[in-house]
Amino acid sequence: MNRADALSRLHEFDRAHRLIAHASSVLQWDQETGMPPRAVVERSEQLAALEAVAHERATDPRIGELLERLGSTSSDPRGDDSLPGLERDFLRVLRREYDKDVLLPVEFVASCARDEGLSQAAWIEARKRNDFASFAPHLSLMLDHAKEKSRLWGFGSSPYNGQLDLHEPGMDERAIATCFDALRPRLSSLVARISARPAPDTSFLDQEYPVEAQDAFGRELRTDLGFQSDRGRLDLSAHPFTTTLGADDVRITTRYEPRNLLSGLFSTVHETGHALYELGYGDDLRGSCLADGASMGIHESQSRLWENVMARSLPFWRGRYATLQARFPKQLNGVDLEAFYKAVNVVRPSLIRVDADEVTYSLHVILRFDLERRLFAGTLEVADLPHAWREGMKKYLGVEPARDSDGVLQDIHWSMGAFGYFPSYALGNIYGLQFWRALRRDLPRIDESIEAGRFTDLLAWFREKVHSKGRRSDPAELLEATTGETLSADAFIEYLERKYADAYSL
Ligand code: ZN
Repeated sequence: MNRADALSRLHEFDRAHRLIAHASSVLQWDQETGMPPRAVVERSEQLAALEAVAHERATDPRIGELLERLGSTSSDPRGDDSLPGLERDFLRVLRREYDKDVLLPVEFVASCARDEGLSQAAWIEARKRNDFASFAPHLSLMLDHAKEKSRLWGFGSSPYNGQLDLHEPGMDERAIATCFDALRPRLSSLVARISARPAPDTSFLDQEYPVEAQDAFGRELRTDLGFQSDRGRLDLSAHPFTTTLGADDVRITTRYEPRNLLSGLFSTVHETGHALYELGYGDDLRGSCLADGASMGIHESQSRLWENVMARSLPFWRGRYATLQARFPKQLNGVDLEAFYKAVNVVRPSLIRVDADEVTYSLHVILRFDLERRLFAGTLEVADLPHAWREGMKKYLGVEPARDSDGVLQDIHWSMGAFGYFPSYALGNIYGLQFWRALRRDLPRIDESIEAGRFTDLLAWFREKVHSKGRRSDPAELLEATTGETLSADAFIEYLERKYADAYSL
């Protein structure tokens, strides 16, 4: 077999694997949006069956042989240096996935999947009954499985890095800790200065906002931001998410609360940010493993930037507030633009991460990062987590949950064995502002475009610099190529300090 044939065989294997993954996403999307409740048992069997097929395909020994034939090894994954750059990036990603999958024995993968299901069910119950003790044995098992995976992947001496590498390839505990250590005291000090000022009036938000009008406003906005309705859909689900079912089928969900205008609105913008990334992969990556985000953190940089930096900005609302007022005349007529802008940007230390404002949000994440590091280093026991959580909340945010359901039990991630995922959310804020600073250098009049409701310049910049490249580079390489910088929280904290000094007259 010559090299061209070997490459085309590898692309076929990859393509077959993506098709199964997308089919499985259809089932998952349906489960969250429209499936009758009693279908859940067979649906999990269907998903498990597809998962088994996918794992079998992904670990086919012929993939290993073809990779080797093309010069791609674990230590030099990009293969033969006479191959085109795009193919070398393809080999790197495929080699990385193959190595990860093939190093996990199939019985271990199956028992992890079964234990994760039981653990999630135990977490749901424990959270409902505020009973951490009943969940603790499951969490310990999830932690053991994660450590074992890290060991099998060659991260035996630094197991937490094995988990971080899954979500932020190439990034490690030390780099993230250095960045977060610089960020945390400045965030805490900003929160303290804001808390000493009078809180803005948000009482007008607490009234009935008919969901039909919320939906109409959100759909119009989504289209204006650049979401193509012939390549995706917007539906409702309990927890908003974005999923990709194919190169031209990216679906987002949102949820509306009649007495909370902002929750549905900003969820829609957040998920639209994810979707614009998914819809922007280059045509040369179509259908391959490179048509994916560079990392979870880069993905969050897109969603959080559209949601916070763009849609919570004054230029955005200067251009859009009159339209919102027209949709909700009874609720908003006596409320001027400045009052609305301040209410949209209210900062208030709170217990729940997903409800947190953009200033306190990263502190929730840094707490989880600290706890995960200690769990993996063996300096914190699962049984002591609730106490460590309360201490951390007091120290970082000055608030303390009365119940574990509002504390250590609030997030689903650990129950699914997803460790090392949380840092991506704060990294998303940080990458996002590094991108934003570079974008403003290239497009100095971006505020005027946003105020005029023209988002095409903004989207085109991200399409060219980030979206079209998909997973061709690791996050640090992408950041360097786009901004000339390494990871640094400076742009993010400076943005917050400037914005909130104005909003709160600090
Ligand atoms: Zn997100």
